[in-house]
Amino acid sequence: MDETSKKVDKLDVLASTQTIIERALGKLGYPEEMYELLKEPMRMFTVRIPVRMDDGSTKIFTGYRAQHNDAVGPTKGGVRFHPNVSENEVKALSIWMSLKAGIVDLPYGGGKGGIVCDPRTMSFREVERLSRGYVRAISQVVGPTKDIPAPDVFTNSQIMAWMLDEYSRIREFDSPNFITGKPLVLGGSHGRESATAKGVTICVNEAVKKKGLDIQGARVIIQGFGNAGSYLAKFLADSGALIVGIADAYGALYEEEGLDIDYLLDRRDSFGTVTKLFKDTLTNEELLEKECDILVPAAIGNQITSRNAANIKASIVVEAANGPTTLEATDILAERGVLLVPDILASAGGVTVSYFEWVQNNQGYYWTNEEVEGKLEAVLVGAFENIYGLAQRRKVNMRLAAYMTGVRKMAEASRFRGWV
Ligand code: GLU
Repeated sequence: MDETSKKVDKLDVLASTQTIIERALGKLGYPEEMYELLKEPMRMFTVRIPVRMDDGSTKIFTGYRAQHNDAVGPTKGGVRFHPNVSENEVKALSIWMSLKAGIVDLPYGGGKGGIVCDPRTMSFREVERLSRGYVRAISQVVGPTKDIPAPDVFTNSQIMAWMLDEYSRIREFDSPNFITGKPLVLGGSHGRESATAKGVTICVNEAVKKKGLDIQGARVIIQGFGNAGSYLAKFLADSGALIVGIADAYGALYEEEGLDIDYLLDRRDSFGTVTKLFKDTLTNEELLEKECDILVPAAIGNQITSRNAANIKASIVVEAANGPTTLEATDILAERGVLLVPDILASAGGVTVSYFEWVQNNQGYYWTNEEVEGKLEAVLVGAFENIYGLAQRRKVNMRLAAYMTGVRKMAEASRFRGWV
């Protein structure tokens, strides 16, 4: 483990992202100026959003939108509503979106937005007013050929619909290509809702093949039961895997013989909470160290760190969340022979189908679910093979190989434009 990895085994997601970008650009032979350009978003907006609450009071929320690099095309990425949203996190997440777009070869740069709030404690109408207020605050800097938002943590197709409606009113024309992750009736795409989980499933299947395992009967632990985690549990259970553990923000369940996923899906609320219904629960930390073959962190960042990496039993870790494993833990897992499929590859299914949605909106011609799923599979299997092959050839771990792949297109585009 090298010194830089040790220093960034912290909660600083931006610093760890910058560290790997620097390494990746170094491996690719780019000059220092390229790192200077790509280490921070080109634009970062902070907005204050006044919202009339149901009790008549006014609350002022803070929101962000980061646009990392638009050398390849308009920036693209989700908007999260969460109490822990911070400027640094949004910056790092926008860089990750650039890398994801590079990995699956989309004509986009990365963007990301966030609002510091807790939608779990707000009414439906308060969330609507907040969503509309955010769009009013950033309407000058976003748009179908500038920066295209999408869902992320605790945002969904209803929120995208309000945002689209607000944007269309401001612009005075219908603009379904302004935002992705919309409801189908407003120009959404088949397969978008489950796209992130489909992408993770494809990566799990590819990793299983590389490790010579069989998905039939493989024991899986999934941390997180939100959009990605819940669909993933269903897809993997349907393909014969045994889901032995799941967790939500409040606790975890573990059952050696496998959990009843259909029952849990039926009982979960819209924020992915289900463990509150049970008496005997574990903590998230305990679940991560339980026996399994495949571990999928699909919740929040910094879950596998130097403290627990040596105790992880899985031989495959597929990162469905953004940044669940620190750099130090990545090295520990690699030393122990664990195959780690990094977040920017495993979670690229969402933005891939968002791109399909935007293409359909631009051409006004809509595809079937089968067409979307077929194209997604082709894109992600190709991306997995590409990165796995690069990791083998250059004798680096898959995270560094993914960063090398993800950064290359935007570095080349920046060079051609004469920026560096
Ligand atoms: N929020 C998702 C992500 O982090 C999707 C972004 C999008 O669809 O543009 O990849």
